[in-house]
Amino acid sequence: MRSEIIQNQDTPLYSISTAAKMLGISVHTVRMYERAGLILPFQKESSHRLYSQSDIERLNCIRRAINEDKIGIAGIQRIHALIPCWEIVSCSQKDREQCEAYRNHTKACWTFDHPKNTCKTRECRTCPVYKESIDCTKIKNRIIGITEKYESTI
Ligand code: SF4
Repeated sequence: MRSEIIQNQDTPLYSISTAAKMLGISVHTVRMYERAGLILPFQKESSHRLYSQSDIERLNCIRRAINEDKIGIAGIQRIHALIPCWEIVSCSQKDREQCEAYRNHTKACWTFDHPKNTCKTRECRTCPVYKESIDCTKIKNRIIGITEKYESTI
């Protein structure tokens, strides 16, 4: 039952103009978020993008961060860059050593190419790392959890 709900939320349904209309923003703004790596829409072979209900929630979260919390695009990029993706998907030490996102915390892991490690075959749109970043509270709790884990080992 639960997987059905997740599947429905992730089904690519809306064109960019419909998504923009649902959010009360311009198509240009949605494209800007995509260029900044804040969202990865489903891409059809024709290069048209489609957005799911989860994508709409993600865009809503981005809008709230910008309008209510006054966090700009660069701030959201920085928050995404701090997500400890290697912990969430349990990367091996070897994968970590070959991963730009592990060594360089300036961009979200899904904005890097991963030609040599385990993420090469993963689909970022359905990956728990990307999906978890829909909700800013979850990111915060994850970062706090990792910090506490390391502090307890000191
Ligand atoms: S599959 Fe994509 S989103 Fe998931 S950890 Fe790898 S790069 Fe990040």
